[in-house]
Amino acid sequence: MSEKTVGHIQCAAGNRAEVRQAVRRGNHFYTVCDCCGTNQGTGKARQQWIWDNAEFIAGATVKKPINVTDEKPVVSESTVESEPVQIEAGTGDFDPAEPVETESAPAAKPGETGMGGKLVGVGLLLASGLGAWLWNR
Ligand SMILES: [Zn+2]
Repeated sequence: MSEKTVGHIQCAAGNRAEVRQAVRRGNHFYTVCDCCGTNQGTGKARQQWIWDNAEFIAGATVKKPINVTDEKPVVSESTVESEPVQIEAGTGDFDPAEPVETESAPAAKPGETGMGGKLVGVGLLLASGLGAWLWNR
């Protein structure tokens, strides 16, 4: 409880929480506010969130927590954004092609299905018909 306040951050309740740093345990941040009390969660995501979003007091001594990476969040965000774009572009290329095949197949079925019934029957009819045609020649 002897740590000094090194900055402020918006807490889960939307109020202004103090950000303090427990220098004894991996430089983990913890937050203190009247509405939420003391939150000493040391999870990587929480520590990273505080590191990235806290308004640190000018002149305050702030050490990077042991489980926080110094990579800017912009890097990971751009990677996340680029992947969905590629997936959307990929499905956009594949979708137009698949319906065409699906539509042409049923279109051919009804006329021949009336004769043979199932698709397998159509195949047998076509094969036997072709065989008979070849045989008769
Ligand atoms: Zn709070």
